[in-house]
Amino acid sequence: MKGTILMNPNRKLIFGAASILVLLLIALTVRLLVPYDFESAIYTNPIKSDNDAQLTKSNKPALTPPAPSATVPPENKAKMVVFPQEGIPVLMYHSIKTLPGNSLGVPVKQFTEEMAWLCRQGYHSISPDDLYESLINQGLVPEKPILLTFDDGYSDNYSSAWPILRQYGFRATFFIITNSTGRGMMNWDQLSDLSKQGNTVASHTVHHLDLSKLSESQQEREMTVSKLEIESHLGVGVQSLCFPSGKYNKTTLALMPKAGYKLGFTTKPGKVYLGDNLLTLNRERIYGSMPMASFQWLFP
Ligand SMILES: [Zn+2]
Repeated sequence: MKGTILMNPNRKLIFGAASILVLLLIALTVRLLVPYDFESAIYTNPIKSDNDAQLTKSNKPALTPPAPSATVPPENKAKMVVFPQEGIPVLMYHSIKTLPGNSLGVPVKQFTEEMAWLCRQGYHSISPDDLYESLINQGLVPEKPILLTFDDGYSDNYSSAWPILRQYGFRATFFIITNSTGRGMMNWDQLSDLSKQGNTVASHTVHHLDLSKLSESQQEREMTVSKLEIESHLGVGVQSLCFPSGKYNKTTLALMPKAGYKLGFTTKPGKVYLGDNLLTLNRERIYGSMPMASFQWLFP
């Protein structure tokens, strides 16, 4: 009887093979019925409720802010060129702060955007000395040169403008009123620091008076005393004068060389071109709330 129960070895083999085949068919059928990418299908299902949304949001790792793009000081990689035919822009800033109702105040955000744009465009800041050498002695300047100037010596020039300038590899020129240092304006320690870090400190006279209305001797004093004071405090030569409110007359221009000034900066808009009068150079005023498009328009 045992023999009838026991399977023939050949039939056992066939049965085993058939079972494996059936199992394979079942597996294949199941596989075809279930979506291929079912895991991702589950995870990409639209979120059903607000609760789910919040949960998903809070569980999501916070986005890493993009790393600040490295700002390489342009001076390090600048190609040197002769005085550009299209002229050299000289920008005129005052306070870097929001001054309600006063366009002389340029908000920090606006100033940052302007410096970032100039940096991206490949501008390189130069000093008044560089400008002079290029105008007079065919001295080379970095390509896309620009002169950044600040009038009056506001303390926010040191606390707000300077860190931004430095971040973008720029240096600037600060025209200070020597009788006003340290009173809401930069003090000599701050000015000395700026000077040591490659910036230029130059004269905006002693009292910020309208030079065109002063006598010859008064004008002379405003020019010489401010120059001497900066030179004695900072140990640097001063060759540039910025006229208060852009006002000057023939006497001013006649006195300048005698007082030791080589460059004069006005508030007349425009760029500086080869052959310009060195004592009455143009500058572009940058005002608060100036649209970025207007700023960019200065650099065709
Ligand atoms: Zn001024």
